[in-house]
Amino acid sequence: MQGQMMHRPLRIIDILRHAAEAHPEAGIVSARVEGDLHRQSYGETLARAAQLAHALNGLGIRAGDRVGTLAWNGHRHVELYYAVSGMGAVCHTINPRLSREQLLYIIAHAGDRVLCVDADLMPLVEGLWPDLPEGLRLVILTDRAHMPETAPGALCYEEMLAAQPGEFAWPDLPEDTASGLCYTSGTTGHPKGALYSHRSTVLHALQVPISQTSSFRAGARILPVVPMFHVNAWGLPYTAPLTGMTLVMPGPHLDGPSLFRLMDAEGVYSAWGVPTVWAGLLAEIEAQGRIPQGFGDIVVGGSAAPRVMIEAYEARGVNVAQAWGMTEMSPIGTHGVLPPRYDDAPEAERIAAKCCAGRRLFGLEFKIVDDESRPQPHDGAAVGELYVRGNTVISGYFENPEATRAAMDAEGWFGTGDVASVDPEGRLVIRDRAKDLVKSGGEWISSIDLENAALSHPAIAACAVVAMPHPKWDERPVLVAVAAGAARPTLEEVQAHMAPHFARWQLPDDLVWVEALPHTATGKISKLTLRQSMGDYVLPELRGGAA
Ligand code: AMP
Repeated sequence: MQGQMMHRPLRIIDILRHAAEAHPEAGIVSARVEGDLHRQSYGETLARAAQLAHALNGLGIRAGDRVGTLAWNGHRHVELYYAVSGMGAVCHTINPRLSREQLLYIIAHAGDRVLCVDADLMPLVEGLWPDLPEGLRLVILTDRAHMPETAPGALCYEEMLAAQPGEFAWPDLPEDTASGLCYTSGTTGHPKGALYSHRSTVLHALQVPISQTSSFRAGARILPVVPMFHVNAWGLPYTAPLTGMTLVMPGPHLDGPSLFRLMDAEGVYSAWGVPTVWAGLLAEIEAQGRIPQGFGDIVVGGSAAPRVMIEAYEARGVNVAQAWGMTEMSPIGTHGVLPPRYDDAPEAERIAAKCCAGRRLFGLEFKIVDDESRPQPHDGAAVGELYVRGNTVISGYFENPEATRAAMDAEGWFGTGDVASVDPEGRLVIRDRAKDLVKSGGEWISSIDLENAALSHPAIAACAVVAMPHPKWDERPVLVAVAAGAARPTLEEVQAHMAPHFARWQLPDDLVWVEALPHTATGKISKLTLRQSMGDYVLPELRGGAA
């Protein structure tokens, strides 16, 4: 028997329409490229999104067309998110930190018709321009006074909006209509596109706050350091208006002192981003001897949050939650709020629980499989490749059947490439990226576990463990570290520090000090680049003729 309820399509624009009505006091504070701090309510944002939709219509943008954005976190980028999807077109966010070759590939592959660019990213666009598709329209996200002289023929965003009406007849789109496109940072081969829909985006926006409850409070302020140009800023441009929170947008300056100043001045309660960013903020907190006023909650994701970092923030009264997810999952898959029984648990137990990658969000299913694709129990012990299924997970890559075939299993689950265990409460422990595991003598060693242990050594500021070839063991782990100060402890000293947590054979065979570690376009340590830069490396045991 069919239920007798209405079926209204889930539309992204309805989030902003709701916020404009229900949360008139909330809005967006933006540290802009122009150097000022701009404020507008969600009502004003909705009106500007309407003006933008009219302007894009005037440029010939129609349903299904792709509109590219190369921009930092700010109100104009939010306007693009809502206007482009609201009119039935697709907002293609582009990561400016990708290589020139990758940028040219994805702009052509996406078939962008318009490219909307923050003024300070114009030098990047100028470098690409001769090789960009003909007919691509360029819009600079600024006013006339700040238009770069180097962009003849480019349109000025504020001028485009100025003459347009502040209301738009947002079409009643089917909820499966494509709304956004984001390419993975693709360490090997071409980046692959995740094509989100209105339905997946709205469901993601509903799924996250009901579980990540520590972060969402109507009237409070939330700061996405995670960029809008990648993985939808973890959905915060949707969840914040939905929950009545004001978005504080940091623009291009993401260093510790800049973030501290902005958070302190604006009273940011919750801040979301990758561990690298929180290491920078922590250094500033230590320098100032205090946390920014009002700061109480942090969500860390994108790569494993080191235990020392969790401890340092918790010790200063900031609640830390770890989240795990991927571009292909809209992106959030877990939340880091502990079950109530941890309220009275000893500190060490609470911290240990926070070191895992969080618990499964409502709406997602997890499956871990062994090398023969056999599902493994969720007992916290069995380890295998993690597959996911749910309304917020891609069903294939945008116009890429080959990558789609490689990623999906016969039952339609998506293979994450992460090696993990899941416990009976849905708690996920990411052991490694499948390609980053160290396989020694047929046994595997988690590089994440080794890195976490090494980072708790006071002389190590940052580190990465990479697998190096060994004729007998196949691979052996090598620790590459950046020193915190002048001290350079020996391999034996660091091994002794790590020893309580590992079997002897799991400890790194060598310690290599470097000035800095390479990072990917999304701010994670790039093990691929690191491995490439260590092309001639030989393990100590094999040196002196044996190699
Ligand atoms: P991206 O698509 O750029 O968001 O990268 C997704 C990948 O980042 C995942 O497949 C994981 O390997 C890694 N990742 C994200 N969050 C975490 C986390 N909390 N712990 C460990 N790895 C993570």
